[in-house]
Amino acid sequence: MEEKLREMLVEYGKKLVQSGLVQGTWGNISVRIDDTYMLTTPSGIDYIRLKSDDMVKVQIDDMSYEGINKPTSEKELHAAIYKQRPDIGAIIHTHSKYSSVFAAANKDMPVLEEYADSLGNIVKLAEYALPGTKNLANNTVLALGIGVCAIMANHGMVACGEDMEKAFENCVKTEENGKKYLLTK
Ligand code: 13P
Ligand code: ZN
Repeated sequence: MEEKLREMLVEYGKKLVQSGLVQGTWGNISVRIDDTYMLTTPSGIDYIRLKSDDMVKVQIDDMSYEGINKPTSEKELHAAIYKQRPDIGAIIHTHSKYSSVFAAANKDMPVLEEYADSLGNIVKLAEYALPGTKNLANNTVLALGIGVCAIMANHGMVACGEDMEKAFENCVKTEENGKKYLLTK
């Protein structure tokens, strides 16, 4: 079970790079193992070279982790979302292009009709806080509300889903929506 989840993180890390959603070591992804643990990508390691053994098992309540690799510096963000939202099983954090335009402009991203079923009417902006902090985690949970994606002011975005397939889909849709919105409005 856990090995399967590790391999899935490897696969989706590569998918994120191939689809242009992450560059180099930026961004991070995680999956919920159970109520107690999440599995995250390690901090600052190139996605293309990531192996299943590199993924880090982190306790959601206290951030303690197993093994020699450090978990992502955004572990508080991932943990806060899993704590607040039992319906969410996987999380993707990126600095992807079109979400970053809204992040830099400090604006909510309005959602076009064709994406509203998946994303709701608005992808909300989370107030700025330093990367890797509890404040950033709290602000992002607040912006997420009962939705699946949020923009993180001057930083990037987060996309969630009941599983990794859905989180990836929501991440792609947010980028597509942002692109179309900017080109048509
Ligand atoms: P990590 O490499 O520690 O996952 O951090 C990247 C990032 O996007 C920080 O916000
Ligand atoms: Zn980031």
